[in-house]
Amino acid sequence: MAFEGLSERLQGAISSVGKGGKISEADLRQMMREIRLALLEADVNFKVVKKFVKQVNERALGSDVLKSLSPAQQVVKIVDEELTDLMGGEREPLNMASQPPTVMMMVGLQGAGKTTTVGKLAKYITEELGKKKPLLVAGDVYRPAAVDQLKTIGQQLGFEVYDEGTQVSPVEIAKRALDQAKLNGNQVVIIDTAGRLHVNEELMDELRNIKAAVNPDEILLTVDAMTGQDAVNVADAFNEALDITGVVITKLDGDTRGGAALSIRSIIDKPIKFTGQGEKLDALEPFYPDRMSSRILGMGDMMTLIEKAQKDFDEAEAEKMAGKIKDASFDFNDFVAQMDQVNKMGSIKDIIKMIPGMNKIPGLDEFDVSEKEMLRVKAIVQSMTPYERENPDEISQSRRRRIAKGCGLDLQAVNQLIKQFNQTRQVMSQMSNGKMSGMNKMMKR
Ligand code: GDP
Repeated sequence: MAFEGLSERLQGAISSVGKGGKISEADLRQMMREIRLALLEADVNFKVVKKFVKQVNERALGSDVLKSLSPAQQVVKIVDEELTDLMGGEREPLNMASQPPTVMMMVGLQGAGKTTTVGKLAKYITEELGKKKPLLVAGDVYRPAAVDQLKTIGQQLGFEVYDEGTQVSPVEIAKRALDQAKLNGNQVVIIDTAGRLHVNEELMDELRNIKAAVNPDEILLTVDAMTGQDAVNVADAFNEALDITGVVITKLDGDTRGGAALSIRSIIDKPIKFTGQGEKLDALEPFYPDRMSSRILGMGDMMTLIEKAQKDFDEAEAEKMAGKIKDASFDFNDFVAQMDQVNKMGSIKDIIKMIPGMNKIPGLDEFDVSEKEMLRVKAIVQSMTPYERENPDEISQSRRRRIAKGCGLDLQAVNQLIKQFNQTRQVMSQMSNGKMSGMNKMMKR
């Protein structure tokens, strides 16, 4: 997960000072040194680090941290507020035109995730903002296969793609796409543009021309979080040339140290609007500085978790499931359906980390259900007869042996799954009978 190292070090630095109650000025200095190192190691721009540490230090000295009996808590509050501020303070939503179509231009270097983000964004805008008929425009005429890639994405999502192949100038393509959108009533037009391996003038000129031709409401820059400081330099160059309106930081699901996310706002003074959290087309998260700060400081992110649950869980389906749990008719078909639902929300480990206080649970890092594991479970369930799936208690030893043979796994794997299934069923029935866990209570509030 992104920010893992930073998260650990920051929490370590803060908690180490507060153990014995009051702290001295020397303790505070030591902690500031550690916070500084933690940020530098996370590849945060050094100017940003300097300013940040100075600010936290001044606020800590100015408040009653030194007199307090719970200094760590107060420092956490200050660091949390400053981190939030560093990443922009408030969430900045997308600019929408008062008269449709809203025109968005996606820019960035090759490989940053532009084309993928065009698709993700179109999906987000239709599902979350209720806009209809997005038109995706294939304006990357240089990268081989970029046009086809966008067409495939359009097909997957059921959205229209405008393309004129690769022999026409992208400025002309953008203009004609916009004309078509006006005629056809597309509410949003998202233009994919060409990238290069590095920032260069030819690229910037072309982008400036497209901008002049279509006058976009949003110019969103995609930068790859994995490139660290480079992402910040790239953002600076694109902003100089195009006066961008926002940033999408992609690949924040990877093992990035997170420096780009923490530095960009402060260096170019443009908001981060979204983060890319995976290759799938629903892996786009609106960026909330306060929630991100909370995650970095290990305080969880209940808001995002609840929103994810609301979005991904089908309510009617959930009620049907609750009924089945109550009358104990939960079977293997339901088990697989549940697994698919949870899988839609992303990695189980990352989901758990969004619950306040859960990031410190020992062994959490091993707690992940990989896609391989899911496939194994499905293979076993598919090898059962419909009768067995619906009547889990009837699966005798001889049936288990047949199931194992059918899916090419050993008997032990089948036994283990059935045991796991029984345990799940038991926990679920306890929960539905009123013994709700703390998390459930929180979700219901
Ligand atoms: P473009 O050259 O800027 O158009 O980049 P693409 O959209 O083709 O993306 C380059 C690669 O990055 C592809 O393999 C994408 O699947 C991958 N990618 C894009 N966004 C993300 C993200 O948020 N997370 C991860 N893990 N991969 C991503």
